[in-house]
Amino acid sequence: MIALEEAQAKVNRDLAVLTPVDVPIIDSLGMVLAETVAAEEAIPPFANTAMDGFAVRAADTAGATKESPITLPVVATIAAGSVAPRPLAPGEAMRIMTGAPLPDGADAIIMVELTRPAGFDVDLLAEVPVGNHIRPAGDDIQEGADVLHPGTVLGPGHLGVLASLGRLTVRCYPRPRVGVMSTGDELVEGPQPLKPGQIRDSNRLTLLSMAREAGFTPVDLGMIRDDERAIERALRTGVATCDAVITSGGVSMGDFDYVKAVLTRVGEFSWMQVAIKPAKPLVFGLLEDVPVFGLPGNPVSSMVSFELFARPGLRRTMGRLDAERQRVPAVANEPMKRQEDGKIHFNRVFVSRDDDGTYRARRTGGQGSHQLLAMATANGLAILPNGDGVDEGEIMDVMLLDVV
Ligand code: AMP
Ligand code: MG
Repeated sequence: MIALEEAQAKVNRDLAVLTPVDVPIIDSLGMVLAETVAAEEAIPPFANTAMDGFAVRAADTAGATKESPITLPVVATIAAGSVAPRPLAPGEAMRIMTGAPLPDGADAIIMVELTRPAGFDVDLLAEVPVGNHIRPAGDDIQEGADVLHPGTVLGPGHLGVLASLGRLTVRCYPRPRVGVMSTGDELVEGPQPLKPGQIRDSNRLTLLSMAREAGFTPVDLGMIRDDERAIERALRTGVATCDAVITSGGVSMGDFDYVKAVLTRVGEFSWMQVAIKPAKPLVFGLLEDVPVFGLPGNPVSSMVSFELFARPGLRRTMGRLDAERQRVPAVANEPMKRQEDGKIHFNRVFVSRDDDGTYRARRTGGQGSHQLLAMATANGLAILPNGDGVDEGEIMDVMLLDVV
């Protein structure tokens, strides 16, 4: 057996960050920025009003109150998207709407709530200071400033910034295309009655979904029989069309575990016995320079193996600096005992958080590697190092699979 860290290091050694590409900004949500975005123009591009009201000279409002208003003639109306027909002269006001450019000559806005209509004039009911409710050019983003940096995971607000700057495309690390195939003669899909010995394929849908959730582009490579030639053909198709391939099944000690046989024959592959439970066997290597992960077939094992090897490794290839799941200390809400066997055990748990921030975890069910329901209802994996486990109330590390 080899240590988990050693197996992870072996995997990561062979995974290279993908070459950045230009992506239409509409498609870049969730991708990692691979360039420094500099603002070629200021935002806002011109000084404008933050309020609906009147553009004035602050000096002309001096001494105005509700009881003794100052009356000014309204000489123009400026809508958002238009500009004043001429500069504002002393002793004048212009009606102005939020977002409209400040007219030359004005140095303050008085909001409409502090005014009263008076025919073609306006009564000002308060005095306002210079700069009142004016948003200067560049108040959000200054021209020439570096605004977004490589490594940023693009969110909706970032896309808005890019749109404000007039960008159509943005340079990002691509999402890896991750092909997923299931292997096994026992596998069928769909609702038809099972023949003796058959089971329905669950791993493919699970792993395709995990790939999608991790930010990758999933590619369905189908169900493949336990047949060396069929497996080799499917693998070659997979590596020709994907950035990584994930298989499940056929990597253990069985007589028909041909995935292991094919991979170790056609490429530089290591068959590892990792000191973890579940998910001990792992085949990993490059076929035609494309990484292939041979995950074990038991449904929980394939998911845990994806979590420990494929997810963090492939997220790094798409530039994610947060490739790893968060780990937190949690109180065991029940005893989680285990036998010494030289392995780290990952227990499927449900994690909750008290008002004071304390994490607590309890098992979601049976811990067999075939017990998919307990994995499906878990939001964390409790990490039990080699030893006899933890008693109720003891603290252990938990890898969070979701936001808690
Ligand atoms: P294997 O790793 O091929 O020896 O398979 C280990 C166990 O996982 C066996 O009980 C298989 O029937 C089961 N298994 C393998 N592939 C799948 C799959 N795609 N969906 C559900 N169970 C599977
Ligand atoms: Mg099998």
